[in-house]
Amino acid sequence: MSEDSLLDHALIRLDEAANHLSIDADVIEKLKYARETTKVRLMIRMDDGSRKSFLAWRCRYDDTRGPTKGGIRFHPNSTADEVETLAFWMTFKCAVMNLPYGGGKGAVQVDPRKLSKAELERLSRAYMQAFARIIGPDRDIPAPDVYTNSMIMGWMADEYAQIVGQHQPAVITGKPLALGGSLGRGDATARGGYYLVRHLADDLGLSGVMRVAVQGFGNAGQHIARLLAADGHKIVAVSDSQGAVRAGAGLDVAMLIDAKGRGQSVAATAGTGGHESLSTDDIVGVDCDLLVPAALENMIDRDNAGSVRARLVLELANGPVTSEADAILADKGVVVLPDILANAGGVTVSYFEWVQNRQGYYWTVEEIHDRLRAIMEREGRAIWTLANDRGITVRTAAYVHALSRLADAIEAHGTQSFFTS
Ligand code: NAD
Repeated sequence: MSEDSLLDHALIRLDEAANHLSIDADVIEKLKYARETTKVRLMIRMDDGSRKSFLAWRCRYDDTRGPTKGGIRFHPNSTADEVETLAFWMTFKCAVMNLPYGGGKGAVQVDPRKLSKAELERLSRAYMQAFARIIGPDRDIPAPDVYTNSMIMGWMADEYAQIVGQHQPAVITGKPLALGGSLGRGDATARGGYYLVRHLADDLGLSGVMRVAVQGFGNAGQHIARLLAADGHKIVAVSDSQGAVRAGAGLDVAMLIDAKGRGQSVAATAGTGGHESLSTDDIVGVDCDLLVPAALENMIDRDNAGSVRARLVLELANGPVTSEADAILADKGVVVLPDILANAGGVTVSYFEWVQNRQGYYWTVEEIHDRLRAIMEREGRAIWTLANDRGITVRTAAYVHALSRLADAIEAHGTQSFFTS
């Protein structure tokens, strides 16, 4: 594995957490490597009659605490390293939230915007055909991730049902409501982060109106902007892959969401309603209280971390801050609410969906929100207290919190001292 692999960077956080716990060496040996990563080539028929192949992966990183859980990403730059790293993060995220799951992830190396809708359906079904032996409601449960959505999950659930010959909605989460999806799944990731910020606002010295910048304006970015704006906070800048806009007095969030709904970039709103255009790269250094990275990995690195002016970073994206940037932000006194806690609302409501599918009884949206809020506040408070008691960053505290649960489960199979004494 190369020095610069994403997984190597992720494992630095495991080592840091291990320094704060007394755990058996078996635990690190088990968590340093993915349990299984399967790579396939999916061959599909294109609309013009040709056949085309796409690389695809499914990784089950660790299943000590339960079946593996994690999304499927469709992205032209996906790699095995990225998939394993995302699965490693899922292992820790599920442990942070005390969900009865291990961590997994999947991807197809494809730009879905270049496929027709029929090609996208064939690719989604081909993914399930290739991985049905690995996947299952008690084995490995996928969900949506970047550039996949509920319709894709619905196609995959249908394909799985055809393969096993029975209705098995708990095989995949993030499904459309009509196919056994859960109320509240659409905005769960952002809502979890929103509950966390609201719960810790006083502790963070952010009880007034916050000025917020959001990087990435997809599912997570749009919902966090909507939820915070509804509470009276000002969304002062947002970006997507094609541009960015800002407005010191606050952007018109409804107009931005409307533009995205019509397939436009947020940049298309520049010049209307006081929106001024901004370079995509400049979003990180915007003057604000709260910066929400909600795009992709490694967006805040050693080159731009010094420009961050926010007091708080809420990581709705997975891995948006590199380990070098982490140190720079800590030195500047910027608090980072880390991905494995901040964006865990998504997997938590996915867990609710799986529970509802298995019991065949469905909850109201109020029940979903109440249960999500209770878990976010419980685990967020425990991690915040741990960080303060030990004088460590919130990220390290989140890893310590998760690692101690993972260690309990791994050590319950017997430690070195058990077998040698
Ligand atoms: P999405 O595909 O809906 O949105 C991604 C957004 O990022 C798009 O607006 C895209 O234009 C933008 N983007 C891409 N490159 C960019 C760049 N260089 N600068 C600015 N914006 C850029 O994806 P999503 O579901 O909102 O996921 C976003 C992040 O949140 C990912 O890291 C994902 O893993 C993470 N996440 C999502 C969920 C969920 O439930 N949706 C759950 C947990 C974590």
